[in-house]
Amino acid sequence: MPFKLVIIGSGAAVPTLQRGVTSQYLNFNERRILIDCGEGTQLQLRKYGVRFQRLQYIFISHLHGDHFLGIFGLLASMNLLGRTQKLIIFGPDGLEKMIRFQFELTKVTLDFELEFQTIHCKTKTLIFEDRVLEIFAFPLKHRIECYGFLFKEKPKERNIDKDQIEKYAISLAEIWAVKNGSDLERDGKIIPNDQLTLPPAHLLSYAFCTDTRYYEKAAGWIKGADLLYHEATFSEKQLDRAKATHHSTAAQAAALAKKAEVRHLLIGHFSARFTSTAELKAEASAVFENTTCVEDGDEFVL
Ligand SMILES: [Zn+2]
Repeated sequence: MPFKLVIIGSGAAVPTLQRGVTSQYLNFNERRILIDCGEGTQLQLRKYGVRFQRLQYIFISHLHGDHFLGIFGLLASMNLLGRTQKLIIFGPDGLEKMIRFQFELTKVTLDFELEFQTIHCKTKTLIFEDRVLEIFAFPLKHRIECYGFLFKEKPKERNIDKDQIEKYAISLAEIWAVKNGSDLERDGKIIPNDQLTLPPAHLLSYAFCTDTRYYEKAAGWIKGADLLYHEATFSEKQLDRAKATHHSTAAQAAALAKKAEVRHLLIGHFSARFTSTAELKAEASAVFENTTCVEDGDEFVL
């Protein structure tokens, strides 16, 4: 399974008994990632069976409490429970200072290495890559500096077509060259590379957009994503409130999904005033049919 997303918290502003605040666990080709870490995240991780000592990366979208206040407790628990594995945290300016200062004041020395990568970008920017995965950050439109993330499988090389190996008696050395993009020569004729190879498998991608007002530019940055999580704090009735607080309505989240031509839209970050998501689901689905309102503990596998 190359991709699994677990919704750890799907509510806005304050944790309630029904919904935790924003956090998601992503396992992408065995890279174990936490996205946002609102208060109470460590208990929610336990509740949904995510072993937090195995996390390798944490991405924080912005410094509003409901997206990061849980990180202090989570790091403290990791340390108390004997973590030695390095952890890398990506987030806006100020996050490292707050975390280091808190450990300094409480005279706690961590037994594991904490590396910080400060995000600062005005357009879509590659902030992480390894052999199989690349991660981009892009700015959103919120009251304070806030970033969305795009997690994407790395382009793979084309696969050589086994039938063509037999047909042209392609040697081992030639296979290597063809895999690297070369054409093949037989009896003075050139056989083009795309006749010898098959296109690489579809590249999976996941986009995370919260918190933000409707921001059309983001659609271009996440074009064609398999899955988009977009905040939908309010319904159309609270459009004024959405504008004033730099949040989105369910219909706006759906409009962005449509514009970005994603396959599936997840909406969350619901205001605690909604005891049911029926109204939000109806408003979003009218614009973009393949919409799901998430609940804490929901899992999505690609
Ligand atoms: Zn916010």
